Amino acid sequence: MDILEIKWNEVRNELLKQVSVISYEMWLSKLEPINFTENILYIKAPKNTIKQVCVDSFNFLLSETIQKVFNTSEYVILGPEEYEEFIKYNNPIVEKKNEFVSKVNPFKKTYTFENFVIGKSNQFVYSACKTVAESPGQRFNPLFIYGGPGLGKTHLLHSIGNYLYYNKPELNVLYSTCENFTNDYLNCLHSGDLNNDKTSRLTSFREKYRNVDVLMIDDIQFISKKDSTQEEFFNTFNDLYQNNKHIIITSDRPPKEIATLTDRMISRFTMGLIQDIQSPDYETRYVILQKKAQLENCAIDNEAISYLAENVTNNVRELEGILQKTTFLASLQSRPIATIEDAREALKMKLDECKENITADFIIDTVCKYFAISKSDVMSTKRNKEIADSRHICIYLICELLNLPMATIGREIFKRDHTTIIHARNKVADNIKTNDSIARKVTDLKSMILNK
Ligand code: ADP
Ligand code: MG
Repeated sequence: MDILEIKWNEVRNELLKQVSVISYEMWLSKLEPINFTENILYIKAPKNTIKQVCVDSFNFLLSETIQKVFNTSEYVILGPEEYEEFIKYNNPIVEKKNEFVSKVNPFKKTYTFENFVIGKSNQFVYSACKTVAESPGQRFNPLFIYGGPGLGKTHLLHSIGNYLYYNKPELNVLYSTCENFTNDYLNCLHSGDLNNDKTSRLTSFREKYRNVDVLMIDDIQFISKKDSTQEEFFNTFNDLYQNNKHIIITSDRPPKEIATLTDRMISRFTMGLIQDIQSPDYETRYVILQKKAQLENCAIDNEAISYLAENVTNNVRELEGILQKTTFLASLQSRPIATIEDAREALKMKLDECKENITADFIIDTVCKYFAISKSDVMSTKRNKEIADSRHICIYLICELLNLPMATIGREIFKRDHTTIIHARNKVADNIKTNDSIARKVTDLKSMILNK
């Protein structure tokens, strides 16, 4: 067994502890490591569907586990065609590795401008992204995109990446989640690798993030305030900006509402364009469903599409999930084309599943993470506004999403009287009617919880 296999076995053991046996057997066990070069682990998936599921559902888990075992969170999963490409460039001459590294497209193939459906809710952000892709380093720098979950932010970043990969291959384009940036940075500060001292680790970190023409950081709301990561990000930003390199950032809320973001960082973001992306309207949802059905070869009739477009309104990720469920149900009934009955059944199943799987703990955890507040504060009796507001939102969401009597919520979850629970719930319900920002936060949170 070579070292790669030994390490991969460690990864497998870790993964098995974290997911159900069924998920492991169906998806993760099928992955095989093929190469570890330049701190990137290349993994082969025998089918594109397996690759897709691993990327969509296990990305965080994989990068965390790979980080633990391989000391890097960078990995690329290759589908069968990409694997062929890998072999072509990589075999048998090892020196060709560099050439290969620059040739692999790290961006998700289907996340392109062509596959992005434009509507009123996203037309401005779409054209800003297109402008940046066509001439990076010029207008809209930095470009800051914000909007609720599942509205296409990551899709747009990858679209820029794909566009540049094919149209300006000479440019060095880096996409990273904020979480990966943070892990990479903390890892270079605290890694126990004695052969590689801290200075040289920092140098290679900076090489990676500053030696680029375009840097895209996804989900900046997860930036931490406490450690030096934000300082490093601030310096990375300045360095790139001064050198006319393009920076594109996404977040689930505007810069001013990211509690952990320092004022100087907020003011940097306001130097460029801050553009929001909203939930798609009915027509856009309809076209998105049609497009997705076409892309994924799902046979579904127009009545079913319009039923789903009418009833699934929050975000596109939800639309995609329900479309898949609908066509799956049709296939179980051996129906060649999914109909409105399948669509109704799929929606009903989804609602039942959500109700079964959501717990008060999960709701509280999601709210705490969203507001960057500790759970012990939310559960305490502290009256500080930020904490009390988060607590009220937890109560509101628990009342809305769980079928529990107020008295139980009060007694068993918050150790409070049921009148306190009613008061908190009503307060948030009233705020939602008058305050757009609160309404948006509550909608985003609901959507995060329901799409867990
Ligand atoms: P976010 O990063 O905002 O949470 P994603 O970019 O991950 O959302 O989008 C979720 C899913 O919805 C992706 O599969 C993406 O392709 C799809 N999607 C979102 N908006 C659109 C759109 N306007 N047209 C086509 N697909 C979209
Ligand atoms: Mg995203």
